[in-house]
Amino acid sequence: MSIFQKIIDGEMPADIVYNDDEVCAFKDISPKAPVHILVIPKKPIKSLSDMSSDDIQLMGTLLFRAKQIAAEQGLTDYRLVTNNGAQAGQSVYHIHFHILGGRPMGWPPG
Ligand code: AMP
Repeated sequence: MSIFQKIIDGEMPADIVYNDDEVCAFKDISPKAPVHILVIPKKPIKSLSDMSSDDIQLMGTLLFRAKQIAAEQGLTDYRLVTNNGAQAGQSVYHIHFHILGGRPMGWPPG
């Protein structure tokens, strides 16, 4: 079971900023920007590579919630990132979008 599943199940504490039947969002424990929030579906999809056509509507919902949460956090400019696989930096295998904002962002990412 991933650490994010434990957060969903209430077995692990988190600073939750949004929660509904399908989506949960909480502050990253090791923030890389002044605002760093993780947005996850409650369905345990491991990574973007594991998304199926059944998940298209859910992933649209996730994007919509992400933009709402970013706005609620006062962000107009921000980055929305998913790391897919170890080489891309994925460390938790429950799909998530990072909302990163509150400082200038370099490009390309490292
Ligand atoms: P990734 O490396 O893209 O898989 O992102 C995983 C993120 O989860 C990292 O930015 C971690 O800092 C964050 N993280 C790990 N454990 C926790 C936790 N218990 N609560 C909040 N964020 C966490």
